[in-house]
Amino acid sequence: MKILIVEDEQRLMESMVTYLKSENFIVEEAPDYKTARQKIEMFTYDCILLDVSLPDGDGLSLLQELKANKKTEGVIVISARNSIGDRIQGLNLGADDYLTKPFHLSELNARILAVIRRRHFQGQQVLVFNELTIDLIAKTVYVNEKAVELTRKEYDLLLYLAYNKNRVISKNAIAEHLSGDDAEIFTNYDFIYSHMKNLKKKLQQAGCKEYIRSVYGMGYKFDI
Ligand code: CA
Repeated sequence: MKILIVEDEQRLMESMVTYLKSENFIVEEAPDYKTARQKIEMFTYDCILLDVSLPDGDGLSLLQELKANKKTEGVIVISARNSIGDRIQGLNLGADDYLTKPFHLSELNARILAVIRRRHFQGQQVLVFNELTIDLIAKTVYVNEKAVELTRKEYDLLLYLAYNKNRVISKNAIAEHLSGDDAEIFTNYDFIYSHMKNLKKKLQQAGCKEYIRSVYGMGYKFDI
């Protein structure tokens, strides 16, 4: 899961980045409005953490821009001001949630996960695809109630396939999702192939049907 943090307070940024990385998110940083805008134009995120007061602009105008461009990212507005007015304005502009500084990082984590569940999985905590079960809270995967041990990348990959179910996803989109914005520097996608191969093998060995199909010349599809 890929998060963009838009925040100009360097220490807060560093603590959020360290914490969210330890929670296995892929984290990108934008210390100002301009950088945030460029990143949002070029890449897709699962959730954007948006500070309201930035040195070169207002976070809420960035939110307005996102919505005007029909971007589907989840947005959590982060503000130092605990005013009801700001909170209402943020939510009216389409923010998914609102956090007032200072906040506990564990609360931030829980809210990000809740936003992602609402955005991608209609708020479900457990996804069931016939014999395959994915627990989004415990981050565990079962086939016929038997646990399947996946690496972080394999789990991320499975989740990405699951929320794009029945759609072909390109290798480029998968690379970006698994590696962050540096994906553009990759010249080949062998690493996707090997994660995909291992994921398919583990699921199959556990007794799961072959829901993951490769679509020649295009990418992959979770066919359910
Ligand atoms: Ca700020």
